[in-house]
Formats: sequence, structure tokens, C-alpha cells
Amino acid sequence: MTATIIDGKAIAQELRGNIAKAAAQLAKEHGIVPGLAVVLVGNDPASEVYVKSKSKAVTEAGMKSFDHKLPADTSQADLLKLIEQLNADKSVHGILVQLPLPSQIDSTLVLNSIDPGKDVDGFHPVNAGRLATGQRALVPCTPVGSVILAKTINPSLAGLDAVVIGRSNIVGKPLAQLLLAENCTVTIAHSKTKDLKEVCRRADLLFAAVGRPEMVRGDWIKPGATVIDVGINRVPGEGGKTRLVGDVNYKEALEVAGAVTPVPGGVGPMTIACVILNTLRAACASAGLPEPKV
Ligand code: NAD
Repeated sequence: MTATIIDGKAIAQELRGNIAKAAAQLAKEHGIVPGLAVVLVGNDPASEVYVKSKSKAVTEAGMKSFDHKLPADTSQADLLKLIEQLNADKSVHGILVQLPLPSQIDSTLVLNSIDPGKDVDGFHPVNAGRLATGQRALVPCTPVGSVILAKTINPSLAGLDAVVIGRSNIVGKPLAQLLLAENCTVTIAHSKTKDLKEVCRRADLLFAAVGRPEMVRGDWIKPGATVIDVGINRVPGEGGKTRLVGDVNYKEALEVAGAVTPVPGGVGPMTIACVILNTLRAACASAGLPEPKV
């Protein structure tokens, strides 16, 4: 079998186009231009690249981007003061604090200080609780993007056996909640799971969010399953260079799975698209409008 390759880049591009159309309609009908504030503390090169691509995506969608670049020695009190200002700023509908933060800053305290209505990363406990109880919530972007990709193959996920490897607050747990809301039978596997291979082999939908290069082998995959690889791992490549691989052995997965996401070009582009989707959703919610249709 040769699996269908799920082209996250193309799907994200289409989603971004739809978000731009919905944002233009919001501006025309209600005079609201969604705005995203991105806060970066320090100069971690990977974070800088990521923040730049988020700002670009926001601008391309016809939204406003407010970048706040602070020095690495910024105090916790100063960062909290900035968040307070952004919480009060009516032109800012989404606030995103790029992680990791320097060691003098308590990340949980900072993330919990963001207005839950502007928490486009969906990390605030209020949003986690709303998601878990089926209420309107801002949901973490990577899980949302992963489910959208799975639904391009299986438009209804109802009744499918879904296995999520990884139980982090930013990927594994919210992903499991989303799949439950889609009526999947969900198993969350993690570092203490027994017989991980056998657990994975039961999955119609397999999501790998671990951070271990190519851990999921071909014989872990049920023939015909949809495999969504969330992992991003940098490994040594040819000629002293490095390359990116996922948590799934892509070559082996192609032989067994029904569909699989590549790394790069799978979940990654969807995460950025879902940041702007959440900014649009936050702007609509702040004006008491229904969920935007994209
Ligand atoms: P994390 O380190 O917070 O969590 C990893 C999880 O994997 C843990 O819950 C742990 O229990 C589980 N785990 C560790 N070793 C395991 C093992 N041997 N067997 C089974 N489970 C094991 O990581 P995270 O933030 O959830 O990210 C996971 C991966 O997804 C990373 O590679 C990260 O770079 C990637 N990621 C990608 C995107 C994207 O946009 N594509 C976004 C976020 C994270």
C-alpha cells in the first residue's frame, strides 16, 4: 500500500485564504479588524523565525499585527504590566506570548494573566476547562490543525479508534478532548504506557506528539490507518547539516498507512493557520458574534 500524503502546506494555505475572506467580511459588516499581539522575550533564533511567520500570516489575512520584542533580562513584573495593557487594549483581540520564557519569569503565571477571551494559544485553564466541558473555547492551535488534517481523509471521525501518543497540556490533552468531541473512542498513550506498539496498532487514527525522532515504526500502524505526525525533531543530516523528522518513520508509514502527514509540511503549517483562525474567532466572540464560518 502507498499511503495518501496529507499536504498540510496546501490545506493550511486554503484555510488561510478562507480566514482572510471571513476577516474581510467582519471588517465590512461590523467594522472590526482582528488584531494579534505577539510578545517575544529574548532572542532565541527559532522563536524569532516562528514569530516572524506568525506576524506575516496575520498581515496577509488582512488583520493587524502588534509585535512586542523585549530584552532577555525583562522582569516578570514588566511582562505582567505589558499583558495588562494588552488585555485592556480594544484593538488587540489575541495575545500570544512566545515560549520558552527566560528563567526569571514564571511562564504559568504569565500565561494565566492573559484574558481568556484573548488567549489565542488556548493555554489558559479557563479555555482548557471550557474545551473539556464542551463550551465555546479558544483551543490550542496544533491540536485543532491536527484534527482538521485528519478530517480531510475521514470527514466524520465518529466511532473511530483514536490513539494520541503524548499527554502534554499544549498538544496531547487538548487533542484528546477534540477527538472525544468528534465522537472518537480515545486512548491517550504516554511514557508509562505498556505495549505501546500494540496500543498503536488498534488505532484507526494515530496521532504522534512525543518529540522522539521516528519512534513510531511501520509495524506499529494498523493497515489503512490515518497517521498524523505532530513531532518536530532536528537530527543530523548529510554533509554535517541537520534535517527535520517527525515522531513517525515516514518511509515505513507510507507502506502501511492509508494516509500520513509529512514532516515538514504537515501539521506545522496548520499551527500557524490556526493562530490566525483563533484571532478571528476571538474577535468575533468579543463582539458577541457567532463562530465565523471558514
Ligand atoms: P512534551 O515533551 O511536553 O510531551 C511529550 C509527551 O510524550 C509526554 O506527554 C510524554 O509522556 C510522552 N512521551 C515521552 N516519551 C515517550 C515514550 N517513549 N513513549 C510514549 N510517550 C512518550 O512535548 P509537546 O510539547 O507535547 O510536543 C511533542 C512534539 O510535538 C515535539 O516534537 C514538538 O516539537 C512537537 N510540536 C509540534 C508542533 C507543530 O506545530 N507541529 C507544535 C507543538 C509541538
